[in-house]
Amino acid sequence: MKKRIVILGGGESGTGSALLAMRKGYDVFLSDSGKIKAEYRDQLTSSGTEWEEGAHTLKLILNADEVVKSPGIPDESTVVKEIHKKGIPVISEIEFAFRFTGSYIIGVTGSNGKTTTTLLIYDILKRAGLNVSAAGNVGKSFAMQVATGKYEYFVVELSSFQLDGISEFRPDIAVLMNITPDHLDRYGNKMSRYIDSKFRITKNLTRSDNFIYCADDEIIAKELTRRNIEAVSYPFSATPLEGEGAWIENDKLIIKTSNSEITMLKDQLALKGRHNNYNSMAAGIAGQLLKIRKETIRESLAGFRGVEHRLESVLRVRGIDFVNDSKATNINSTWYALESMESTVVWIAGGIDKGNDYSMLYGLAVEKVRAIVCLGTDNSRIRSAFEGKVPSVTETSTMEEAVRAAYSLAKKGDTVLLSPACASFDLFDNYEDRGMQFKNCVRNL
Ligand code: ADP
Repeated sequence: MKKRIVILGGGESGTGSALLAMRKGYDVFLSDSGKIKAEYRDQLTSSGTEWEEGAHTLKLILNADEVVKSPGIPDESTVVKEIHKKGIPVISEIEFAFRFTGSYIIGVTGSNGKTTTTLLIYDILKRAGLNVSAAGNVGKSFAMQVATGKYEYFVVELSSFQLDGISEFRPDIAVLMNITPDHLDRYGNKMSRYIDSKFRITKNLTRSDNFIYCADDEIIAKELTRRNIEAVSYPFSATPLEGEGAWIENDKLIIKTSNSEITMLKDQLALKGRHNNYNSMAAGIAGQLLKIRKETIRESLAGFRGVEHRLESVLRVRGIDFVNDSKATNINSTWYALESMESTVVWIAGGIDKGNDYSMLYGLAVEKVRAIVCLGTDNSRIRSAFEGKVPSVTETSTMEEAVRAAYSLAKKGDTVLLSPACASFDLFDNYEDRGMQFKNCVRNL
C-alpha cells in the first residue's frame, strides 16, 4: 500500500510539500482549517492532491503514516494533539523536502537577520555563476523547489518552527545569526525551549560540515560551552578574533578562512548598521567556504541592493528621510534600527505587542528620538514606557495619520523611521502590507 502523507496547512510550504509528495507517489491529503488561497487551491487540484479547507476532518488525518505540519500551526492545537496521541510522526516541510534532494544546503536561522543573510548568501553564489536558489520564507518553499526545480545549491531560511520538525535535516553550512526572545508564546514562555529550537540547526552536523555563528551573542556563547558541535566552527564578531572567522577591526571587515582572507572597508559595505555588519560577515564566511573568488564576494557585499521593508530608504521629502523597517516586529530588530540611525529620529512604532520589554530601547530613545508616533489599536504600553523619556508621544490609528503626524513633527535633517517592534495584524494584513502603505503615504505627502 502507498504510504499516506497528511499535510496540515495549505500555504506556501504545505502546498509545496503536497506537490512534492504527489510527485514521489504517496497517497496525499492536505487539510487546512482556514481558507486556502486560490493560487494554492489551483496548484493542489491540478496536481491531483486531495484537500479540504475550513476544517480538519480527523478521520482523514489520523490514518496518516506521517504528517507534515506547516510552521504556523501550534503543537497545542487540537488536531496536532490528536496526531501525537496516535503516535503518528510529525515533521516539517524542511525535513520532508530534505529527503529528496542531494543539493548542497546552506541553512540560515536566528531571531533576526535571516532573510537578509539568506539573500546576501544567495547573491554571492549567484554572482559566482552557481546554480542556486533561495528557499524557505523567501520566495518559494524548499519543498516546492525540490519538486519542480533542479538546483545544485539551496540557501534555506529556517524559522524555529521549521527546525522543530526536523530529524535528519543536515545543512552543509549552518548559520546561526543570534538568539533573542521571540515567539515565546509558542514555547510555553520558556526561553530555554526557544534556544533549543534554534540550536536544532546544529543537530545533525558532522565534522565535514561548517557552523557559522555570532560570537558576540551572549546566549549563543553560553550554549556553546555546554554543547558539543562537531562541525568546523567559524565565529563572527564586532571585535577582533583569533583564528578563523570574521570580525571588524577599526574600520575594516576581515574574513579569514583556511584558504584565504578578505579585507574590506566597512564603508564599502552596501548594508549599513552594526546588525548588517553581522549579516555581511556571516554571508562572507559562507562565500569563502565555497571558495568563491574574493572579488565576487566583495562585489556582492558592496553592491547588494537590500531587502524591501528592512531599513529600506523610501524617499527624502524636504530634507526629511523616510525609512521603512516594517519587518522589525520585535524589540531586538528595532534596537538595531535605532542604533544605526545617524540623525535625530521621529519613530513610528506599535501594533501587536508580543510582551515587549521596552526598557532595552530607553538609551537609544533618549539619545536619538525626537518624537514617537504610536500606530496601533492599543498603544498604552508604548505610551507608558516612553512618556517623559522622549519629548513627545502621539497616538494615531491609520498609516496616513501616522505619516502625516511624523512629517509635521520632524525637522529638516531628521529621519522618520517606521520600525514598529510589534506585529502588524491589528491594523494590517501583514508586515508587507504595513510597509507598502507606509511607502504609499510617504509618496503622497
Ligand atoms: P528575519 O528574516 O530573521 O526576520 P530580516 O533580515 O527580515 O530578519 O530582518 C528583520 C529585521 O531585523 C529588520 O528590521 C532588520 O533591520 C533587523 N535585522 C536585520 N539583521 C539583523 C541582525 N543581524 N541582528 C538584529 N537585527 C537585525
